[in-house]
Amino acid sequence: MTLQPNSYVVLNDGHKMPVLGFGTYAPPTYTKEQAEESTKVAIEVGYRHINCSFMYGNEVQVGRGINSKIADGTVKREDIFHTGKLWNNSHSPERVRPALERSLRDLQLDYLDLFLIHTPLECKPGDDLFPIDENGKTIYHHTDIRETWKAMEVCKDAGLVRSIGVSNFNCRQLELILNMPGLKYKPVCDQVECHIYLPQSKLLEFCKSHDIVLVSYGVLGSSRAENWIDQDAPRLLEDPVLNAVAKKVNRTPAQVAERHLLQKGIVVLAKSFSPERIKENFQVFDFELSEEDMKALDGINKKLRYLDMNVWKEHPEFPFHDEY
Ligand code: NDP
Repeated sequence: MTLQPNSYVVLNDGHKMPVLGFGTYAPPTYTKEQAEESTKVAIEVGYRHINCSFMYGNEVQVGRGINSKIADGTVKREDIFHTGKLWNNSHSPERVRPALERSLRDLQLDYLDLFLIHTPLECKPGDDLFPIDENGKTIYHHTDIRETWKAMEVCKDAGLVRSIGVSNFNCRQLELILNMPGLKYKPVCDQVECHIYLPQSKLLEFCKSHDIVLVSYGVLGSSRAENWIDQDAPRLLEDPVLNAVAKKVNRTPAQVAERHLLQKGIVVLAKSFSPERIKENFQVFDFELSEEDMKALDGINKKLRYLDMNVWKEHPEFPFHDEY
């Protein structure tokens, strides 16, 4: 398999997505300015795919990072593939375009390459990221996700986004969109947690059969944000099988974890805000894993979801009760 730094997948609407993306979510222990500096480093190192979201609260800084690399001539806008996401509080159709326009304003970009519904879990429309009632319970709201999707299609037709897709959707939720009457554009991708501990084989097979790209997050074992993730969960990069393969091919565990998914046709997101590791994580195009190594890594599966989103498990659209 020939994978190169400029390799991409062709999406079902004809646009091209670079196979390795730079993740920009960081827990509150990092500053927003680090997102800006790291985005610049990532572009200098060679990343052309940037994954961001309104919910990360750093679109201003990530946009500054991108625009400064355009201004100094390192890249042109068309070289960059930028992903943004619609947050849970903006699923009502009339809120979709304004939410997108706010992101574009913050990013100082004219268009997004990809706009995703961040999760199928709609919360009360409003400005709160996590609206809760007086008992501390999330205030749910239920727009038919197909109505949200239609509003996403309108954004594509208006030229504000090149492609549209979803994130954290299970197979049933994808099917709901694929089977909707009058569907104009299929989701180009489903961005989900996927790594050696959660290989997502069935969802991957389903996505491939519908020409939907699976984009993986948590590939390096997640950012382990204290407010989201069980701090006792095993550390993926310390996995003995992963480390044995890494030693054998003379690469780091992070590089092997990424390469394993890339060789399966999965688009990989990797986050680091350390210049050395940003570089390290991009050096995955000059080695190949053998069939034997791939098999060893495929065999690890712990069915471990770092980002279980259990705070929303009562939501009628909670995606992770289903097997996939
Ligand atoms: P990753 O799985 O990419 O892991 C990031 C963590 O690994 C950080 O703590 C980072 O620390 C560390 N790390 C990075 N490189 C190395 C390395 N070479 N060696 C050792 N440690 C390393 O994190 P995420 O779960 O955050 O996923 C990546 C991206 O995916 C996010 O930034 C975000 O863009 C996206 N995402 C999307 C979600 C969605 O709902 N759609 C949910 C979660 C993430 P350091 O920075 O110090 O290097």
